[in-house]
Amino acid sequence: MPFDYAPAPESRSIVDIESNYGLFIGGSFTEPTSGEFFKTINPATEEVLSEVAEAGQADVDAAVAAARRAYDKTWSKMSGKDRAKYIFRIARLIQERSRELAVLETLDNGKPIRESRDVDLPLVAAHFFYHAGWADKLEFAGYGPDPKSLGVAAQVIPWNFPLLMLAWKVAPALACGNTVVLKPAETTPLTALAFADICQQAGLPPGVVNIITGAGETGRMLVEHPDVDKVAFTGSTEVGKAIQRAVAGTKKKLTLELGGKAANIVFDDAPIDQAIEGIVNGIYFNQGHVCCAGSRLLLQESIADEALASLKRRLTTLRLGDPLDKNTDIGAINSSMQLSKIEELTASGEAEGAERWSPTCPIPEKGFWFPPTLFTNVTQAHRIAREEIFGPVLSVLTFRTPEEAVAKANNTPFGLSAGIWTEKGSRILWMANQMRAGIVWANTFNRFDPASPFGGFKESGFGREGGVQGLGAYLNVEDPS
Ligand code: NDP
Repeated sequence: MPFDYAPAPESRSIVDIESNYGLFIGGSFTEPTSGEFFKTINPATEEVLSEVAEAGQADVDAAVAAARRAYDKTWSKMSGKDRAKYIFRIARLIQERSRELAVLETLDNGKPIRESRDVDLPLVAAHFFYHAGWADKLEFAGYGPDPKSLGVAAQVIPWNFPLLMLAWKVAPALACGNTVVLKPAETTPLTALAFADICQQAGLPPGVVNIITGAGETGRMLVEHPDVDKVAFTGSTEVGKAIQRAVAGTKKKLTLELGGKAANIVFDDAPIDQAIEGIVNGIYFNQGHVCCAGSRLLLQESIADEALASLKRRLTTLRLGDPLDKNTDIGAINSSMQLSKIEELTASGEAEGAERWSPTCPIPEKGFWFPPTLFTNVTQAHRIAREEIFGPVLSVLTFRTPEEAVAKANNTPFGLSAGIWTEKGSRILWMANQMRAGIVWANTFNRFDPASPFGGFKESGFGREGGVQGLGAYLNVEDPS
């Protein structure tokens, strides 16, 4: 008899959420000149968590001016060793407050506490530690004897890993001597505002980090601001293209981390149980709101039936529900808008002739939810095999030969990541060389490390984040990618 898990909710008492938040400009929180605020909600319950300021043009101007002042007067003049002290202090404060930040992330984003606590927060701290280590060693990074910073960095981030994407952007910018104006996504601003508090706690000089909240229009004003030297964006390919057009013809340095439609390729000699775990982690981690998600499963035909049966068995054991429950595997979809997009694309999958399957799983009445889903009978022409769904939805295709696997894996406008499952080392190396993807995992999936560069080819964007390569994006040098 299967046994039921008793509820194991993480307490939210560790988090103090203010009823409203201003903009973090020049080291303190200020009211928006527009006087406008918008609500941020818990997507698992639709409860309003707080009201957050909507930054208009005057606020964007003030934030960029504060970052410029801090750059000219303080940060660009400080030694790498002194910058490192601040970044190490931030990293330690993140570790000290990691439980609070994990709960806050889960409340605002809907992701399971198990993931925010065990994946997001440790990686956030690791990113700051790693880059703190670089701040006084930039002359050894391979960019010449005295690489210079760029100036003011405008950074716009999405809602799928709010604090982690902030860390990916802010840590290298500060380590390389730049100051920052960052706009978090409209649906997940709270951990960025908690980070502003951490900057104050760390005694970071005013204006080195500025956080302005708002919708897409605020992001547009920020990246188009004439006094910005660097633009870093993570989000949809559509907005990425608009930003590239806006930045064209200016001297702004640009990195774009956009969408993906990764192939997770399983050969007949793969350790199948391990591969099933990798497939599940590849697409159902973070509700599939992952740009490098393994959303296309390519199974070698001879093991397809066996692998699918195991996968379906495994999916029936996933628990969907309260993201604050420590036993939860699948949390809430981040917004009603994203839920509608997933529903629209999955409906198109059925309409185009693919076969849909989900385990029976009770869906909570309030909030935004989507069960783990897979599609078989998928062809490469189907929208669910071509477009980024950004939800817990897997499209399953088959192949017979390695050459066919390569052709199918690369048959996408994207090129962010890929996974290869096989026992043969030589095949891993051969396949990895054929993949038009920035990251290739072998016998694992969705592994991240601050020392390893992350970024894409084709419509997945350009530039690298993380590692030595990622430093180049924040230095006045040729982009290494
Ligand atoms: P967006 O690309 O619209 O949002 C990413 C960030 O850019 C947000 O902070 C957003 O603000 C901001 N933004 C929006 N418009 C502009 C603009 N014109 N100039 C500057 N910044 C802007 O993604 P969505 O949240 O709308 O998601 C849409 C789809 O994008 C998803 O369904 C998914 O397929 C894909 N996506 C991919 C991600 C990835 O990592 N590859 C991450 C997120 C989404 P605001 O949130 O306030 O609108």
